[in-house]
Amino acid sequence: MIKLLDNSLECINCKIKNKQIILAIQSVKEKLCCPYCGCPSARVHSTYEREIQDIPFQDKQTILLLTTRKMFCDNPECTFKTFSQRFDFVVPKEKKQVGLWKNIDYIYKIEFCQCVIFIENRIC
Ligand SMILES: [Zn+2]
Repeated sequence: MIKLLDNSLECINCKIKNKQIILAIQSVKEKLCCPYCGCPSARVHSTYEREIQDIPFQDKQTILLLTTRKMFCDNPECTFKTFSQRFDFVVPKEKKQVGLWKNIDYIYKIEFCQCVIFIENRIC
């Protein structure tokens, strides 16, 4: 389902806590292109987590925890040494809105939530 946002994403964890649906997401792309010069880079500087609030589903708030990489740009002609990974569906530095649920059929949302609850019950 996450792949509807971006084909290179995978969901590494999901849980329903209180009134929140929390999805931990990361990109499977190995190389990222520098947004300043366009050169691909596979050299990771660091990673951090971005928290993005999506529109609520039913009575639950959706939170996306996006593992974001900071990369080195190895192009000697580039004026930037590092750059942060960007996601098409999030405005850089914005904390809100990706519209995860927007393009998804209602029935899939129900199935998804049932699936998460099922997984949680098995673990507990
Ligand atoms: Zn660059």
